[in-house]
Amino acid sequence: MRTTISLHFILAIVATFSIHVTAQRAPQLSPAVRAYVAVDATVVALTHARVIDGTGAAPREDQTLIIRDGNIAAIGNFASTEVPAGAHTIDLTGKSAIPGLIMVHEHLYYPNGPGVYGQLGESFSRLYLSGGVTTMRTGGNVNGFMDLNMMRLVESGQKPGPAIDATAPYLNGPNTFIQMRTLKGPEDARRQVQYWTDEGATSLKTYMQITRGELAAAINEAHRRGIKVTGHLCSVTYAEAAGLGIDNLEHGFFPATDFVTDKKPDQCPGQGVGQKTIAALDENGAPFKNLVQTLIKANVALTSTLTVFETFTPGRPKPPGLEVLTPQLREQFEQNYARTAQNKDSLYTTLFPKAMALERAFAKAGGLLIAGTDPTGGGGVIPGFANQRQVELLVDAGFTPLEAISISTLNGARYLGRDKTVGSLVAGKQADLVVINGNPAAAIGDVRKVEIVFKQGVGYDPTKLIASVSGKAGIW
Ligand SMILES: [Zn+2]
Repeated sequence: MRTTISLHFILAIVATFSIHVTAQRAPQLSPAVRAYVAVDATVVALTHARVIDGTGAAPREDQTLIIRDGNIAAIGNFASTEVPAGAHTIDLTGKSAIPGLIMVHEHLYYPNGPGVYGQLGESFSRLYLSGGVTTMRTGGNVNGFMDLNMMRLVESGQKPGPAIDATAPYLNGPNTFIQMRTLKGPEDARRQVQYWTDEGATSLKTYMQITRGELAAAINEAHRRGIKVTGHLCSVTYAEAAGLGIDNLEHGFFPATDFVTDKKPDQCPGQGVGQKTIAALDENGAPFKNLVQTLIKANVALTSTLTVFETFTPGRPKPPGLEVLTPQLREQFEQNYARTAQNKDSLYTTLFPKAMALERAFAKAGGLLIAGTDPTGGGGVIPGFANQRQVELLVDAGFTPLEAISISTLNGARYLGRDKTVGSLVAGKQADLVVINGNPAAAIGDVRKVEIVFKQGVGYDPTKLIASVSGKAGIW
């Protein structure tokens, strides 16, 4: 008996301590942010909620969730959890609470025209938040400082949006993008990492034409500074990048060139050449299984971005959220969509389902699969809407709804090293959560029915966020 009491006492101290070390109070919010706030009270009680906690555990019905000073103060059965006097109480009967989405291949830019990417930090940060994203990593930037500035403006309460893990401009070899720099060698790669991390970048993205020497130098310098490196690679194979210590690879196995037989070192054989080998790959065969083991042993996370590849695949439904685009950009995507639908010989007809199977095999083998959307390609990947679609597509790929939610929340937090603060619904963590009018554990499509997005305990109205940019995404 005595032992039990003292153990409880110690656990209570640990729990109290963890609240102080992990969670952050929301900053003072500017009037520009307040315009989108639906719920703001020191103590909020969500009652009769179905809690889907993000760990993959079964939903718990009829729960009370207490938010105090921006953090989750308690979660428990309605019958046994007291609602503090004066709490702002919201009855969630029939509704669910899931953790805020944590998505890691996001961008604050969009393909506006031939080779031109419009800088849409203002509208996109609102759209991400409206879709339930409370933390995001940008997966490369083509402007220089906007990602870094948006990160700081959101953090200080000047602008609405998810917490941002901000990337530096892409690290790449010779390329044809007019908004992308070309590295001059390993020392230059090291200097770029030094410069951008000094400026505040918290993440690095390497790209398709980088050499092994440049990649090694970038990883070495980034790790020395405690920063992680991801890559959308082609010139360097997945196995080579794992050997050099990369932390993350983007787009599942779509860009892997490991299976191109006459691949020349440091040279990208062309995206299509690699993709043909992926479409023909056997997920149960030794070559693929060996690569998966190599990645897992080297602790390399894999980002699923099925949303962008769905827009290249004939016969798929039209993506959600197109109405927020400017009329010109919407028209441009509608034309792309019609062209894709008519492409009967598209490799994506076999590649898309194959890539889903490969991502699932990687996760089943014990690899860390994380999720993102990648609003690039030929357009049509609309922040916020696409994040919900990505969760649905993980279910299409064979994951259970609870697994898909876990990949899109807690796994992202683990990768970013933020899982002590966010990523799951547990007392002591930050109150980043999404109220959903439905049950996504039973019907994953319900993730689209977002009613309130809580970030640091402040509840945002998704309808107002979307309305503020509707028809304008593409301009700012
Ligand atoms: Zn991208």
